[in-house]
Amino acid sequence: MGIIDERLAVIQPVNKFWYKNKVAALDMLRLDLLHPVVSGNKWFKLRLNLKHAIDSGYKAIITSGGGWSNHLAATAFAARHFGIRAFGVVRGKYDELTPTLEACAVNGMELIFVTQEDYKNRHQPEWAKGLVEHFDEVLIIPEGGANEWGRKGAGLISRFINNTYTHVAVSVGTGTTLIGLRDKLDISQAVLGFVPMKQGAYLHKSIADHLQPAQNHNWQLHDQWHFGGFGKWDQPLLDFMNDFYGLNKIPLDIVYTSKMMYGIHEMLADNQFSSHDKVLCIHSGGLQGNLSVKDKLVY
Ligand SMILES: *Cc1c(COP(=O)(O)O)cnc(C)c1O
Repeated sequence: MGIIDERLAVIQPVNKFWYKNKVAALDMLRLDLLHPVVSGNKWFKLRLNLKHAIDSGYKAIITSGGGWSNHLAATAFAARHFGIRAFGVVRGKYDELTPTLEACAVNGMELIFVTQEDYKNRHQPEWAKGLVEHFDEVLIIPEGGANEWGRKGAGLISRFINNTYTHVAVSVGTGTTLIGLRDKLDISQAVLGFVPMKQGAYLHKSIADHLQPAQNHNWQLHDQWHFGGFGKWDQPLLDFMNDFYGLNKIPLDIVYTSKMMYGIHEMLADNQFSSHDKVLCIHSGGLQGNLSVKDKLVY
């Protein structure tokens, strides 16, 4: 699937000054380098869904998200690349389009705006049916690519991760990426999920339900570094991102990876790792969302 060159995803060591030798190694898997829009985990969650749409002869796809959704942006771009018509159901009304939605529209995604209230029905096929014509020919890709194809595709990220890493850290939205990775990584490797929303631990059950039973071990969710909730941030988080960039030249995104790395930093300070551990943090992309704070970042 020629849109992405997966060799662009490199593993970059984080500067030792940042982790103060509290672990033997701390590296980042730079999935953000794959593509500016179809970045990070979104490509992996989409690729088998799009292949399925093409192979099965669907005429279009329909998916959903909020006004800053990395998933909508990635889907719009990738669908256009493959010549697939794409509908995007957007939660909430907007007086003017966010840069994310504008990019979706530029890439030909047909946006359908629904109220927050109405959006709650998004998991019911009957509901989506009312939104587009010729529904039978339209493949529904759930919000965040959270389906079997999404989980399988996310599992392909494990190809980049050798088994010398004792811990793999990943940011969690729907948990699709974490599930794909936990299913594929060696069970001796701990998978640490960081949830950027308040009380995100509620995701524990749905993640456990989707894991292969033999793989439902050695993973955990951390939800305390939410900074007020999903999409919320404060000055200390921005300072953290700017400092991290200064030391490592790695741009973090404001919604997911910044909160994950902040959490890792706190766990290191709190001596929650051993000095023999080797930690791989997954940079899952999402940098297009930084347009919402671009005047506050040094990168
Ligand atoms: C969507 C997204 C996530 C969350 O992925 P899930 O598979 O839904 O858990 C994490 N990081 C970034 C940058 C994202 O855009």
